Amino acid sequence: MTRPLRQTLRTADQIVDAKLAPADRAHDIARVADRYAVAISPAIAGLIDPADVNDPIARQFVPDIRELDHRPEDRADPIGDDAHSPVTGIVHRYPDRVLLKIASVCPVYCRFCFRREMVGPTHGHALSDAEFDSALS
Ligand code: SF4
Repeated sequence: MTRPLRQTLRTADQIVDAKLAPADRAHDIARVADRYAVAISPAIAGLIDPADVNDPIARQFVPDIRELDHRPEDRADPIGDDAHSPVTGIVHRYPDRVLLKIASVCPVYCRFCFRREMVGPTHGHALSDAEFDSALS
């Protein structure tokens, strides 16, 4: 039985050390982590079966080199948030609802995230007071 993790995994070495990926994937995971945020919380890690190479939870949270495959038709803003963002922190796509994005960091980073270009510690952690006031207005 493996010991439960006590910290969120954020690097390739940590993921390999936790046996959530084989050592021969460390280089690829590091390349993905250079581009996109990585975080696997202890709770998520505890759901992964390290013996199953196709573990469905691992596939959602352990970086895969295929994330770096890009096609000409790929967009940095695939769901078009920018066109509906009148001020920082707001997405107003529909008349009867609004999305207030207070923070740009997540406790885990899902490999399927369609806001992957916008989330992570390199995108700032939270709205400033002025941005928050502007978003509320
Ligand atoms: S924004 Fe949502 S889908 Fe994207 S990484 Fe964060 S929790 Fe996952």
